[in-house]
Amino acid sequence: MSRVVILDESTANQIAAGEVIERPASVVKEMVENSLDANATSITVEILNGGIKSIKIVDNGDGIDADDVEMAFERYATSKIRCIDDLNQISTMGFRGEALASIASVSKVEVITKTEEAETGTRVVVEGGRVLSSEPVGAPKGTTFIVRELFYNTPARYKFLKKDSTEAGYIHDIITRIALARPDISMKLVNQGKTVIHTPGNHDLLSTIYSLFGKETARAVIPLELSQSGIEVSGYIGKPEISRGNRSLEMVFVNGRSVYNRIITAAIEDAYKTRLMQKRFPFTVLKLNISPEAVDVNVHPAKLEVRFSDEQLIYRTVNLAVTAALSEASLIQNVEEDSDHSKMYTFQAIPESEAEQVKMEESKPVGRLEQPGNSLTVAEYRKKEYSDYSAPEGFVNVKDKDAFTEEREQSREEIRDVVIPQNMQKANEVIQPPAKVSVPQVQDDRERLINAQIVGQAFESYIILEEEDDLFLIDQHAAHERIRFEKIKKQFTLENPFSQGLLSPLTVELTELEMQKFNELASYIKKLGFEAEAFGNRTVIVRAIPYLMGGSFSGRDFRDILEKLSQETKGVLEIIPEETIYMVACKSAIKANRSMSPMEIKGLLNDLVNTENPYTCIHGRPIIISISKKELDKKFKRIV
Ligand code: ADP
Ligand code: MG
Repeated sequence: MSRVVILDESTANQIAAGEVIERPASVVKEMVENSLDANATSITVEILNGGIKSIKIVDNGDGIDADDVEMAFERYATSKIRCIDDLNQISTMGFRGEALASIASVSKVEVITKTEEAETGTRVVVEGGRVLSSEPVGAPKGTTFIVRELFYNTPARYKFLKKDSTEAGYIHDIITRIALARPDISMKLVNQGKTVIHTPGNHDLLSTIYSLFGKETARAVIPLELSQSGIEVSGYIGKPEISRGNRSLEMVFVNGRSVYNRIITAAIEDAYKTRLMQKRFPFTVLKLNISPEAVDVNVHPAKLEVRFSDEQLIYRTVNLAVTAALSEASLIQNVEEDSDHSKMYTFQAIPESEAEQVKMEESKPVGRLEQPGNSLTVAEYRKKEYSDYSAPEGFVNVKDKDAFTEEREQSREEIRDVVIPQNMQKANEVIQPPAKVSVPQVQDDRERLINAQIVGQAFESYIILEEEDDLFLIDQHAAHERIRFEKIKKQFTLENPFSQGLLSPLTVELTELEMQKFNELASYIKKLGFEAEAFGNRTVIVRAIPYLMGGSFSGRDFRDILEKLSQETKGVLEIIPEETIYMVACKSAIKANRSMSPMEIKGLLNDLVNTENPYTCIHGRPIIISISKKELDKKFKRIV
């Protein structure tokens, strides 16, 4: 039997480092959080080889007293808390007192720091946790850390690192999120000598978005503002035109921290539901400020997962804020701006750990949400596919570590690639925002559509309108569907369906299973506008159908609707079956291309502007697009 020994301190620190420091991005995160805690207003991060070779963090914060510098590298050394009670009141970013010790134990660290009062600065060099030198040095106020050769003495960890460009991508993501959380701080990231991020630090979130994502994104966001029940929602959300193929830019901040939370994600995506195509995800910089009295916010030690004591309140508030912002904004897609940016900034998903997390949360009983118009419970939402949920790796939760480590047990070379933001590859070209960016005024599109001059109809499918300097093109079929969908939905919610009696009742043969569904869903079927009753064991007699449905109604249509309804409701009776309503609307909208008289077009426009969402069909396809005169002039080379 081996003898029991106490590990020496540097080994203990290396083990601890495994908990906190997984990769260069974790070093950056800990270090930048320290700079923020030290009241810095400007922080520059310079990396070489994805941060593996070196990470330099320069801040203009308070600095560290000469006497304290060496001690700051000790485990449990912190200037931020004194006893366990302080943990509950802590407002600073980091509070474990082990980041520096951990980092120093697995790398070569140099620090140069000076406080306001000190006459000279101090330079300390630490290697593998051992202090090599400490000396006075001339320095400006603030702190510079240089972390070289990360994991040089822990080859097992080194092996798990990914390609330089991948590691650089994680760092880019972390700096992006910190910059968005703190528009008051000027954040700079320099990768291989090229400045790839530089935010103004002018307290303006939109300018920060502009400098991080560019002009097109800044132009296509809608401000968010709602405050109720101790919860404040603010920030910006993207119009559907800047949606993307994964959740990497669905960014959420709770009390100043970038977090991942299923409830908030559900609330956001449900609000976008009929405005985005399937598998498209919104761009959001959504900030929640929650007073601790209102909702108990439980932050995971890794600080990325939050839990709320009142999930429904959070859901309702976020959903309302996003819905309100979307319904007020002009969402007509401009053909020129309708480009796909989703390739620009994509991080890989972590399916294993995600799956584990979803499984864990499912086992928790969750109540049904009361939000009208919302067809998913939180539990159901969680069951939805999360394979495309892509949390960048720097943000992996401690509890997911096993799955995560497994995933990494491949050599550095084999690992899948990460697409680095485009602007990262451009030499020294940083998008600088103008002094103040403003969101385009929300126009009253409804009024414009009503006032527009009807130019005509193309291909018996598209209506062409002219209004001031814009051409509008309307997909007449999609418009009809939207109008009928909203009418039927309204009648359904008000439990006031309009029906039309069939001249001769329709007899529909059902299977045993269909019959069972029919019996379970009888109340729903009635609310949709059907009058139908069982006739014998396997037959249903339909006497009336929803008013808007056309004359060519068949038994097959009835079975389709029954099937859709049972899929959508899964036996739960409180929801609004939007998909089924949409099916009824589709079955009733004029299918074939059809020429329309100006009077008919006028009528259609009138109905369309009276819908809640005249912009997209319920699957997010656009109903209206616009082309400006200027764009036409450009195309014809009248202007350049
Ligand atoms: P913690 O942040 O939990 O206190 P760390 O190991 O991250 O623990 O840092 C240890 C201490 O070093 C901090 O409490 C702080 O006093 C000091 N420190 C670290 N980085 C900076 C910085 N950039 N500016 C000023 N002080 C710093
Ligand atoms: Mg810290």
